[in-house]
Amino acid sequence: MNFHVLTLFPDMIRRITGESIIGRAQEAGLISVEAHNIRDYSKDKHRRVDDTPYGGGMGMLMAAPPIFDCYSAVKETLGGKTRVIYLSPQGTVFSQKKAEELKQYDNLILLCGHYEGVDRRVIDEIVEEEISVGDYVLTGGELPACILIDAVARLCDGVLADASCYENESIASGALEYPQYTRPVEYHGRRVPEVLLSGNHADIEKWRRAEALKLTRKNRPDLL
Ligand code: SAM
Repeated sequence: MNFHVLTLFPDMIRRITGESIIGRAQEAGLISVEAHNIRDYSKDKHRRVDDTPYGGGMGMLMAAPPIFDCYSAVKETLGGKTRVIYLSPQGTVFSQKKAEELKQYDNLILLCGHYEGVDRRVIDEIVEEEISVGDYVLTGGELPACILIDAVARLCDGVLADASCYENESIASGALEYPQYTRPVEYHGRRVPEVLLSGNHADIEKWRRAEALKLTRKNRPDLL
């Protein structure tokens, strides 16, 4: 899976996705993340990429031409199945199901807006899907793009040790995950539940299922 991020802040993408599991997956060649600076495609002598919106209103809007040129330069280098996504609070809300669907593509091109957003014409011309990370508004699409990359990348072969790492987790399993504990056995007067120390795998499984249901009923009854 190759992620291509079109952004005004490529270092944000590189820093976040260069760490931890996603960073190691890139080093191992399992996925790639490339951040492309839209500003490099500005034809303005001051490298401007935004302008005031027609009709008036607050703030600046990212102009269509540098975005389109950046997209075209990236697109012509790609082979395989490609999906173009605009991260936007106006999109459909991201989910584990969507992450699984996007995993099928060879390339994802992720457009990040900033300021007041993006000239509608370039969305209409190049974007196939708008995705939101939730019903709140952020200053830019970079963090949403990193969320999407993280969620999709960890489903790609070899990124996690085993598919069971994500199949049995919260949401993907259809419920929330059971509570987990590690050493020490007692911490601030709270003991690890005895059943987990018993070595009886059938009892542990039963306890985990019951706890997962209890937690789901309490925090996310809508999942049941
Ligand atoms: N004026 C826009 C509106 O009302 O829909 C909001 C623009 S927002 C301040 C700037 C950029 O941040 C957007 O173009 C988008 O790329 C990104 N963004 C903000 N909130 C987001 C969210 N919930 N999900 C995905 N992207 C978001």
